[in-house]
Amino acid sequence: MSSPHSPAAVSNFIRTIIDGDLASGLHKSIVTRFPPEPNGYLHVGHAKSICLNFGLAQDYQGKCNLRFDDTNPEKESEEYALSIQEDVRWLGFQWDGEVHWASDYFDDLYAFAVELINKGLAYVDDLTPEEMREYRGTLTQAGRNSPYRDRIVSENLDLFARMKAGEYADGAKVLRAKIDMASPNINMRDPAIYRIRRAHHIRTGDKWCIYPMYDYTHCISDALEGITHSICTLEFEDHRPLYDWVLDNLSIACHPRQYEFSRLELHYTITSKRKLLQLVNANLVNGWDDPRMPTISGMRRRGYTPEGIREFSKRIGVSRSGNSVDMAIMEGAIREDLEARAPRVVAVINPLKVTITNFEGASTREADFHPNHPEFGKRFVAISSALVIEADDFAEAPPSGWKRLTLGGEVRLRHSYVMRCDEAVKDENGKVIELRCSIDHATLGKNPEGRKVKGVIHFLSCEHALPAEIRLYDRLFTVAEPDADKEVDFCTYLNPDSLTVVQGWVEAAVQDAAPETHYQFERLGYFCTDRRDHQPGGKLVFNRTVTLKDSWTKEAGSL
Ligand code: ATP
Ligand code: MG
Repeated sequence: MSSPHSPAAVSNFIRTIIDGDLASGLHKSIVTRFPPEPNGYLHVGHAKSICLNFGLAQDYQGKCNLRFDDTNPEKESEEYALSIQEDVRWLGFQWDGEVHWASDYFDDLYAFAVELINKGLAYVDDLTPEEMREYRGTLTQAGRNSPYRDRIVSENLDLFARMKAGEYADGAKVLRAKIDMASPNINMRDPAIYRIRRAHHIRTGDKWCIYPMYDYTHCISDALEGITHSICTLEFEDHRPLYDWVLDNLSIACHPRQYEFSRLELHYTITSKRKLLQLVNANLVNGWDDPRMPTISGMRRRGYTPEGIREFSKRIGVSRSGNSVDMAIMEGAIREDLEARAPRVVAVINPLKVTITNFEGASTREADFHPNHPEFGKRFVAISSALVIEADDFAEAPPSGWKRLTLGGEVRLRHSYVMRCDEAVKDENGKVIELRCSIDHATLGKNPEGRKVKGVIHFLSCEHALPAEIRLYDRLFTVAEPDADKEVDFCTYLNPDSLTVVQGWVEAAVQDAAPETHYQFERLGYFCTDRRDHQPGGKLVFNRTVTLKDSWTKEAGSL
């Protein structure tokens, strides 16, 4: 496996624990796992968990398993399972050996349940779901024992076998662990460990009509795989006593330890598969990989890079305190990564026509694809008498300090001549529709004589430019925490302007770019050719990945 992590990994409390376990000899090497449920596409929160689990395995030369927690057959699908594998690989990680599935252990899980029954530690309960809820008690009130709690072992064995054989209706009975109905921890009040559910399973088909519950399944799967550190998010902290209880009471030698860290919440978006699914189903976005989605596939399509996401994950760190993170941290990490990897080209997304009155024909000039990376090569930048510039690079009545174009003023055309605006042509409404300009022929690669020209703007020669569809993305929601208020539907905060599609122009050098090619459009931002709709040599489609923090300042004076 390649090592995308920098050797100087940032420490955190989990690393401290691992360091201790290795130093004390408790473990010779570590085994982690990433355990998604294949019930949706992964999101940025999962990316954090992937980077953590796979990253630890890499840094400590251990192993990380990919294990699907496939115990809820109704919600799970092959499509989701495949997308998850693709996302993990795309992020730059490879699981150890084959993919694991909780369903690989259904026979073992059944046998362990029988072991619990034999030990008097599990019983079949006939209470209805409503009755069970009522018997469970509340946070302040102890629960009550079910009247079925004292069934003898042989009766429980018989009933459980008949549950498996399909003799009872869905929901008619459950198998429960016999722990403590008065426990202050509700998870310990005789939790259900098996339920009857006639559902077709993506891997075991119709073999089973009983399915093990998540808490029961997870700890046993971890133990069977020899996981050393079972890392999950904080909402499972109260489930840890159950995790330990199950393993303490079964004849499994291995007892992994569970550690919890705080979930990532990213501002202006949501990190819940269930809610993301709602957006997809209601067609409020264009599928799971819509570039506005915080899914890994959405971020990929938008042009985020695996390196950038891994760097983000490193920067936000791992802890047990709140992990509500500003989008600027993600965008900063992506921008820095793209700065070094994306060739720079010119695009015009809001064109204003410019006619150069003292220039005939066309000429070209060589220009670097990146000022700091000569190895990216060069391309030819063309100029002719008919150009387009960005409409907002011209102002008739400019604010003070304006360095761009105005009537009678001069700017440097990027990689080309100094140009003066002589006349603004307007339509009947007074809108400027064309600029008539002249160039100083003595300024190609040279400063003009006797005066300083500070501003630099980009442009394209009309006859050399190619049309392109350019998709500009903004935040998906208008508020930082769209799902904070439980009384308000998070969809009411969807940003109606999160997508703007414009027809712009790009320079010919990008004509044959493959899908998922990154560019910086100078002064506009980082863009990526769309994975689905862009056709090399045909219809060109670019997604704006992220804007530039500053328009280029350092090179503003370059000739
Ligand atoms: P969701 O609530 O979005 O459905 P989940 O926790 O149910 O998420 P799983 O497929 O069960 O999704 O998660 C797989 C792993 O990813 C788990 O270990 C889980 O703790 C972790 N994970 C999920 N969401 C986040 C998050 N926001 N931040 C960090 N880790 C997360
Ligand atoms: Mg889950």
